[in-house]
Amino acid sequence: MAPSTQSVLKFINELIEASRSQAMREIEELRAIAGGIDVQSYDTAYYGEILKKAQYDIDEEEYRPYFEQHSVMEGMFTFLQELFGLKFIPQDIPLWDEKASAYDIYDGEILSARVYFDLEARKDKRGGAWMHNYQTHHCDTQGCTHLSSAFVVCNFPPSSDTTPSLLRHDDVVTLFHEMGHAIHHLLSKVKEHGVSGVNGVEWDAVEFPSQFLENFAYEPKVLKLFATHHQTGEVLSDEMIAKLIRAKNFQSAIFMLRQLEFSLFDFELHLKLYQGEAIQELLNSIRERTSLIKPPAYNKFQNGFSHIFSGGYSAGYYSYKWAEVLSADAYYAIVDEGIFGSELARRYKEIILAKGGSQSMQELFVEMMGRECDSKNLLRLSGIE
Ligand SMILES: [Zn+2]
Repeated sequence: MAPSTQSVLKFINELIEASRSQAMREIEELRAIAGGIDVQSYDTAYYGEILKKAQYDIDEEEYRPYFEQHSVMEGMFTFLQELFGLKFIPQDIPLWDEKASAYDIYDGEILSARVYFDLEARKDKRGGAWMHNYQTHHCDTQGCTHLSSAFVVCNFPPSSDTTPSLLRHDDVVTLFHEMGHAIHHLLSKVKEHGVSGVNGVEWDAVEFPSQFLENFAYEPKVLKLFATHHQTGEVLSDEMIAKLIRAKNFQSAIFMLRQLEFSLFDFELHLKLYQGEAIQELLNSIRERTSLIKPPAYNKFQNGFSHIFSGGYSAGYYSYKWAEVLSADAYYAIVDEGIFGSELARRYKEIILAKGGSQSMQELFVEMMGRECDSKNLLRLSGIE
């Protein structure tokens, strides 16, 4: 999606400059908790953990009773109905497991897609969470339209007749993330199979719709739709929501700089042939701006940067941040319109989701927003001033 080499370099460098002063404050906070010792790079994880426990930690167990799986699902459906006008109608059909479920999705009154959920952990099931695009919206050579379907798979705690499945807030974020991928695939209106839904979407834009939806899992207006205590019926308080956001943004500027260091090193490394000492020199020169506490000289991070050797991210590590910027920008555009009833939400559905990979995300983004992407909303989302 990125239009040029220069645009990627400019993007990374601007974010580095914008994050540095807050990262320095975060380092000072770390030094303070370390009792004024000369903190080295290999101490930061240890003192970071102490600082987090003392000031930023949340007790996941305290939150769990507010995230009962069925009420989270119902709340997510209500949210998607309010935001995009989607209706989820449960289907009583035979499936592979009694805990799996299927829903037909109506866009207004029109049947658009089907989604299958397989959310609970069980023996022999693969771990993790993912969306799988099963069938793709397209029009065949006879002129017949085929609707799409997808699976959303997670590994939440299993429920039984006597115990409900209670989620961590992290699980709710994961569910929203995968659902963001799913509706990107399912709400496609493209006729050509190869560029419909998530097919053909550029590498640096595929995580845009997932991260976009995930951001709403921290939004008080959305959380209050479903975060009610499964025994007392009490709604999650504003204070508890604020703590979630604070914990998410713990050392966000330090983390941002670290990701930008990886991004810039990867990208610069692919711009020309570097050999021998030149590689270390390149990394050192980047660290002048990104590492506020310098790693020791024996650190050879570059020799184990497997993302770019075997992970498919060669010259593409920046895509994590690139997609985050798109998602934060589109997210705040909708939040600032009051979320429900937002005109931009309608445009997101009709432009970003409906057009899949049929046009460059760069074009689609500008068509939706009426402007280019602005990285300052990622700073806002990360709590970086
Ligand atoms: Zn994803």
